[in-house]
Amino acid sequence: PSTPTLNSYKGKINVSVRPRPLLSVSHGNTNNPWFIENDNNTIAHDEAGEFQYDNVFDPLVNNRQVYDQVVKPVVEKAMDGFNGTIFAYGMTGSGKTYSMQGSEFEDGLIQLAVNQIFDTVRSDPSSQYTISCSFLEIYNERIFDLLNPESANALRNFNFGSIGTSSKDELKIRDDPIFGTKVIGLHEEIVTTPDDLIHLIHRGDQIRKTGGTDYNSRSSRSHAIVSIKIKKLTNSQEFFATLSLCDLAGSEKATTQIERRKEGSFINKSLLALGTVISKLSQNQGSLHIPYRDSKLTRFLQPSLSGESVVSILCTIHLSQITVGETLNTLRFASRAK
Ligand code: ADP
Ligand code: MG
Repeated sequence: PSTPTLNSYKGKINVSVRPRPLLSVSHGNTNNPWFIENDNNTIAHDEAGEFQYDNVFDPLVNNRQVYDQVVKPVVEKAMDGFNGTIFAYGMTGSGKTYSMQGSEFEDGLIQLAVNQIFDTVRSDPSSQYTISCSFLEIYNERIFDLLNPESANALRNFNFGSIGTSSKDELKIRDDPIFGTKVIGLHEEIVTTPDDLIHLIHRGDQIRKTGGTDYNSRSSRSHAIVSIKIKKLTNSQEFFATLSLCDLAGSEKATTQIERRKEGSFINKSLLALGTVISKLSQNQGSLHIPYRDSKLTRFLQPSLSGESVVSILCTIHLSQITVGETLNTLRFASRAK
């Protein structure tokens, strides 16, 4: 497939679907109801019919192939001053984190984006770039700064009783004249090499993992957002852009009654709001009210979703028999975003 042109992003959201590879035939996959057509656009289900997107990847593609279609054009625009957002959306276990962070065998989309950013900086000596990065987690409508070591404690001590009450150490989102929104007090660091940036993200991951004993269940309910700010000075003109790379909470519903009660209506409030915002954006009518303020995620990302921003969603799915319901939900979300 050819690299998508920038025009394919104009006024619409780029939506891709990536099935994770099957572990084995015995993994609930006899009578697999899914069929991926070789046009790179279509996935079909025995009963639910055909679904079409900008890209439907073969389960065996690597992160680099996904990168070229999903992320590369967004980074190109970001280096020219247009905000960009990449989402990984899908049920827990479908490959969001694998896609974003990669594995010991291949780089993830974040690493590949970082490489492209610094390649551009190196190949454009007539412009002056300043690259900085922040990394936050949104958990139950609270923002945690993953580059601040105190957050590990805050995450560990997080108590559902405090939901809805504002705490003095809660991070607040404010308007910002240059970047649109800003989180007050969020740690942001200037980086000059790809390694610097990747080390910063690893540092955040460590804080995320040490915050609370139950990292796996929290990470499936929280959103992790890497924000890379790019300032470019060229011919005495300044350009600003933010590239946001979002590993979203699992799209499945809370599994037990207890969890549902505990987390109350905050469960996936940000994810629900994102669905609404994205489907309104894709309707592309200037007059529509877009409810960015309905959640922390949409409010934080507002400048990277609105205006001339470029948005690309990678919907990860699992083609096993037992997850058919969740996979159909993900495909419906993906269709609403088109
Ligand atoms: P999620 O973040 O959506 O919950 P993960 O990325 O953690 O899911 O993936 C679940 C498991 O599947 C992990 O063990 C991961 O390594 C594996 N996996 C997911 N996608 C791929 C892939 N494309 N290739 C190889 N392994 C994958
Ligand atoms: Mg994950």
